[in-house]
Order: sequence, then C-alpha cells, then structure tokens
Amino acid sequence: MAFVITDNCRGCRFTDCVSVCPVDCFYGDGEQLYINPDECIDCGACEPECPVEAIHDEGSLPEDKLQWIKLNAERAPNLPNITQKQAAVPGAEERKAALGF
Ligand code: SF4
Ligand code: SF4
Repeated sequence: MAFVITDNCRGCRFTDCVSVCPVDCFYGDGEQLYINPDECIDCGACEPECPVEAIHDEGSLPEDKLQWIKLNAERAPNLPNITQKQAAVPGAEERKAALGF
C-alpha cells in the first residue's frame, strides 16, 4: 500500500507535503507531484498537509480517482525528486478556490 496524489494537485503544487515525508518519495513535473509507491512507507504524514486534499491512501481513493494509483507508479520513477517546499505554480490560489478549498 502507498499514498497516491490525484489531479487535485494539478496546477497547484503548494508542496506542503514534501517537507513532512520521512523518505523523500515525492517526484514532480511542471504541473503536479507524484508519490513513488516503491518508496512510500505508508506513514500518512503527508495527507493532512495538502490544502486541496489531493493525497489519499490508495485503499481509500474515490472510485473516479483509481487511475491515479497507476499514474503515480508510472510517472514518479521518471521525474526529479522534490525534497523541499517550493513556490506554488502561478494561479495556484485560484485553482485552490475553484476546487472549493
Ligand atoms: S500539498 Fe497537495 S497540492 Fe501541494 S504539492 Fe503536495 S499533493 Fe500537491
Ligand atoms: S505516506 Fe509518508 S512516506 Fe508516503 S508519501 Fe506520505 S509522507 Fe511520504
């Protein structure tokens, strides 16, 4: 089991999550982050840090987000490791408001 990042992260990338991860298993492209399931130790520390509820335990993913298990596993190993909080992408606050947070 691992935690999974969904499309709520896209266009946001606040990266509050990375600073609490004990094993640095977040990876990112220009739009969002992904968790490498081979490295995640399932501690759950990141989930409450995300301001847009993008992170879920893979066993508790909403039905319409199940594809993100595969997408995190496929994409994370091919992307740069993100280990420190970064500036959010432009428009992140608007995106957050549009998501209802
Ligand atoms: S805190 Fe949430 S929205 Fe921000 S980068 Fe992490 S998963 Fe994405
Ligand atoms: S559950 Fe723990 S180990 Fe997995 S990504 Fe979140 S903080 Fe890192």
